[in-house]
Amino acid sequence: MPVNLLDFDQQGLLAYFQEIGEKPFRARQLLRWIHQFGESDFAKMSDLAKSLRAKLSESAVVEPPRLISEQQSCDGTRKWLLDVGVGNGVETVFIPENERGTLCVSTQVGCALECSFCSTGRQGFNRNLTVAEIIGQLWWANKALGCTPRNERVISNVVLMGMGEPLLNYDNTVAAVNLMLDDYAYGLSRRRVTVSTSGIVPAVDRLREECPVALAVSLHASNDALRDQLVPINRKYPLAELMAACRRYIEKAPRDFITFEYVMLDGVNDTPAHARELIELTQDVPCKFNLIPFNPFPQGGYERSSADNIRRFAESLMRAGLVVTTRKTRGDDIDAACGQLAGKVRDKTRRGEHALKEAA
Ligand code: SAH
Ligand code: SF4
Repeated sequence: MPVNLLDFDQQGLLAYFQEIGEKPFRARQLLRWIHQFGESDFAKMSDLAKSLRAKLSESAVVEPPRLISEQQSCDGTRKWLLDVGVGNGVETVFIPENERGTLCVSTQVGCALECSFCSTGRQGFNRNLTVAEIIGQLWWANKALGCTPRNERVISNVVLMGMGEPLLNYDNTVAAVNLMLDDYAYGLSRRRVTVSTSGIVPAVDRLREECPVALAVSLHASNDALRDQLVPINRKYPLAELMAACRRYIEKAPRDFITFEYVMLDGVNDTPAHARELIELTQDVPCKFNLIPFNPFPQGGYERSSADNIRRFAESLMRAGLVVTTRKTRGDDIDAACGQLAGKVRDKTRRGEHALKEAA
């Protein structure tokens, strides 16, 4: 089996080059070809020594996941479905805004954590994505959006908020993040790469030491009893431990706050009493709140809080001095909104066939 060079961050590629007797600067040249020019054909890497190109074509490939389909929402959001094996797909979403462009990247096929309001969690866990499959999402999106190093940067931010729990696929996630940050690859700032976690406390501590980037924590509840139900991993890492880990993270984080994500579920976690509890819970953590209106999916079993309720909830947090934003729902016409990513290739194909028949 040839080695897939998309699986290596710079450190990994340097080790591989040492093994095949090549110099470090050539590895960096190759990184630029692969990640900045989106080139997968060694023959086209014109300034690489011919001997190296010959050697690579015998032992290595640059193999991103196969692109299955692409969809565009009426609000400009774009979604790509990538093939990661028979019957499986992962989805990656690009959200353009005035001042920035954000790519939402997946790290696992499915998720083992079974949060009760999340469609990815409902489908169960299949497997971890490889580094090539994680960074391949950025690789494809860059290509589809026509980015080159000479262009203005279209993708300015990456959030690891797609399918899966990034900190339960720690090594591959960190290698992919290293590439996102690497000036020879995507060159994003640490402040613009956000890992979103449901709160795997030991892995949060490890990330702080090894690869501190912006951190978002999926809080969703103001007390342990409620969070045990909504985010079952809370039974293992309860709120007091999670808050302590957030405080430790801040010491090394590139930003001086943690983002708390809070999905707004009608009648479940959105009352004035919940707001008061939240204020108390987070009083020692420098943080910002991001309220996410719940996005329904088939058999979701929850309702979205009303716009009025979300506004009132936001206001009570703000009155306590917290910074609060409410996430705009983007791309829900193509099932690309938070919690709607399912990546079922078969279903999607069937839906595609259906649409074709209707159009005919
Ligand atoms: N596993 C990680 C990252 C992926 S989920 C995590 O849980 O943080 C990204 C965000 O979308 C999380 O905050 C998650 O709780 C939220 N989410 C999941 N399902 C949702 C839904 N149906 N509506 C709105 N947000 C949802
Ligand atoms: Fe997994 Fe995050 Fe969904 Fe929970 S919200 S099931 S951790 S993807």
